[in-house]
This record gives sequence, C-alpha cells and structure tokens, in this order.
Amino acid sequence: MSYQIRVLGDPVLRQEALPIENIDGRVVRMVKDMVPVMYEAEGIGLAAPQVGIQKRLFVYDMGEGPQTLVNPQITESDGEWAFEEGCLSVPGLSFEIIRPKQVHLVGRDLEGNEVSIEADELLSRLFQHELDHLDGILLLDHLDRDQRKAALSRWREIQSLRGADDLSPGGLSLS
Ligand SMILES: [Zn+2]
Repeated sequence: MSYQIRVLGDPVLRQEALPIENIDGRVVRMVKDMVPVMYEAEGIGLAAPQVGIQKRLFVYDMGEGPQTLVNPQITESDGEWAFEEGCLSVPGLSFEIIRPKQVHLVGRDLEGNEVSIEADELLSRLFQHELDHLDGILLLDHLDRDQRKAALSRWREIQSLRGADDLSPGGLSLS
C-alpha cells in the first residue's frame, strides 16, 4: 500500500503523536513506505502523522541518504534564524518564520541506537518542523492573527482552484 500525504484540515495533523515502544518490523516497514513518499513529494523530511500515522517518528534526507529518527526530542535550542518554510501538508503556501538557529536533538535511529545531534540552520529548522508535526502543530500556528487569516483565505482560494495535486510550495518543503 502506498501512503497519501495528509493536508491541512485532516484531523490526524492536529493530534499529538504517541511514542514508539518497540522498533519492530512494523516500524521498519513503515519507514520503508514513507521514504519514497518523501522523495516523490520532493520534501527533505516527512513525519509519520503526515501519512496518517500517529507515531513519534520522522524520516529526512539532507543529501546523505534517508535517515530516521524515532521518539525525537529537542533538549536545547539557541539563537534565532529567519527562514522561508514550506510544508507538504500545506502545499502552495510558505512563510518566513523565525525559530531558534541551533538545536540539540536526541532520539533513536531505526536500529534502536541512541542518537544525539547538534543541528544548525537548515537541519535544525527541519528538526523543529518535524517535531511540530509530532505535536500536532502546523506552520500556520507560528503566524500572528492577521497573517493566519490571510493564509487561510489564500488556502481556501488554492483549494478552490486546485484541479489535481500539482502544487508546489513557494519555499523549501521541509516536510
Ligand atoms: Zn510539514
């Protein structure tokens, strides 16, 4: 079966994902199915809730092949960085959002090994974006009221124009 990317309006994107107790064959198969969906959509990351799975896991590829993070947590963050973010679950829209420039992330890889990563700029931004997905947070939640109103009306406009599914976001699609 192949996964479909869920978009704004799908309740699964608003739920808090649950920790993964065992990294078993099911989890490995899920990752195997998620990675091609990420590539197909030309995102650099994809979080499980974006394909309808309420689990704390995301995949990403920053040019070194697909990586998986299970039960990731950001333990430290520092600095500020403005970056134009796009999201595969809100196709057609992108927003400049200020977030911490660096984060320290811990979690597990697909083999169950503990990982600890110091991330800066784009990788850090990717991690923060994916963590948001695991907590049911979308880009729109980072906007102020007026920006959000404008974004939602633009979204409705896009939905009404949309023939198929060939929208690409203005910014880089983190996931
Ligand atoms: Zn996203």
